[in-house]
Amino acid sequence: MIDREVLDLDFDAYLGRVAELTDDVLIPAEAEMVEAGEVPGHVMETLARTGLFAISIPRRLGGLQWNMAQQVRLTMEFTRASCVYRSRFASVVGLCSQAILDHGTEQQHKRMLPGMAAGELITAFALTEPDAGSDAGSLTTTARRAGGGWVIDGHKRYITNAHWADEFLLFARTGTVEEGAAGVSAFLVPRRSPGLETRLATRMNGHAEGPVAEIILTGVEVDGSALLGDTLGGGFAAALRGINHARLHVAATCVGQATRMLEETAAHLLERRQFGAPLADLGAVQADLGRCFADLEAARALTVAAADSFDSGTVPRHRITAAKLFASEMASRVGDRCVQLLGGEGIVGDHPVPRMWRDVRALRIYEGSSPVHERNLGRAVTRQVGACGSLPDTYRVTGRRAA
Ligand SMILES: Cc1cc2nc3c(=O)[nH]c(=O)nc-3n(C[C@H](O)[C@H](O)[C@H](O)COP(=O)(O)OP(=O)(O)OC[C@H]3O[C@@H](n4cnc5c(N)ncnc54)[C@H](O)[C@@H]3O)c2cc1C
Repeated sequence: MIDREVLDLDFDAYLGRVAELTDDVLIPAEAEMVEAGEVPGHVMETLARTGLFAISIPRRLGGLQWNMAQQVRLTMEFTRASCVYRSRFASVVGLCSQAILDHGTEQQHKRMLPGMAAGELITAFALTEPDAGSDAGSLTTTARRAGGGWVIDGHKRYITNAHWADEFLLFARTGTVEEGAAGVSAFLVPRRSPGLETRLATRMNGHAEGPVAEIILTGVEVDGSALLGDTLGGGFAAALRGINHARLHVAATCVGQATRMLEETAAHLLERRQFGAPLADLGAVQADLGRCFADLEAARALTVAAADSFDSGTVPRHRITAAKLFASEMASRVGDRCVQLLGGEGIVGDHPVPRMWRDVRALRIYEGSSPVHERNLGRAVTRQVGACGSLPDTYRVTGRRAA
């Protein structure tokens, strides 16, 4: 349940509240989280009470309804703390809520979104399969009609929050394999459905306290109202709606993570003395920090620009892809340099930077891996220039916007 007073805060006051939460609760609780191997229950309650599950959901459905530029600023703030916290509500906020909002029926909105905003109904986004990762459109989980409902069979893997979810937004083939992505529909599948089993990943390399899980579906029966929206074959469009939202949040997460890594590292370099002076006094070290800062600021600017375009109309998917690609690569580069600057402390002991460096590695893989984004952007560039001579999602000097 969101605290009553949070609902009355204007954006700047809410941002301040989230900054305080980050500094006073989330960062100090990291050690407890690492020790426990999971996000502590009291932190999950605080995240819900502060409204972090609700940032993208409309007010009429119990959410806070911040626009994308505001969501991105909030994300940059709370992801100065471990990005594992974000992963515990990310599947609700960006991925599932936006797909349900734009593609679900009014009845589905009312049934799902208020509970999701309150942090009381946890959803997970179940697209990836053992044989359908980057090529998600080739998924083979099936949903076939049975009476007025559906029977679902298949296997999902790498699903964030599957272990904790009350309900899955799950993508299954209702058409033929030849139809590819056009034959995929989305379903709302309760976790307690007979025939549905989840298996937690036994080991994570990064994101250790927020493990993914598999979902095995054997003859899972759902009723007719489980189909998202009322049209068959719209599953992939719904998935992309959620994914495009989430990619911008991932880009903002990378900015938050790199900010913290850089601040922690600079603080260490001011204290650590070698050759009779703080390491921060060495020109080579300063140059390294300068490169990191410039990299970080470039990612911040790109992410904010993509969020602004998002708020001004259609989803600028190429700009979003560029922001996600650049910011996730930036966070790894910055993390790697910071670990180097920490020396042995970057490898031995409990310093937060190496943990964050391992965590951000995954951000170059989920929500589309970097090489796939590079390929897709390259294709969009040649296709668009071939068609009308201009770059995709780019504003020309004349003010003419490319299609
Ligand atoms: C921590 C984590 C959380 C996740 N959460 C979710 C979730 O909540 N829901 C969900 O549905 N999925 C989730 N995923 C899955 C994620 O989306 C996939 O891992 C990702 O799409 C890549 O698929 P794959 O792992 O099968 O890699 P593969 O498809 O096997 O690709 C492996 C590598 O091959 C290269 N490659 C593949 N295709 C191309 C191409 N066309 N061009 C160039 N290079 C290519 C890339 O380097 C790629 O990284 C999560 C994954 C992780 C690691």
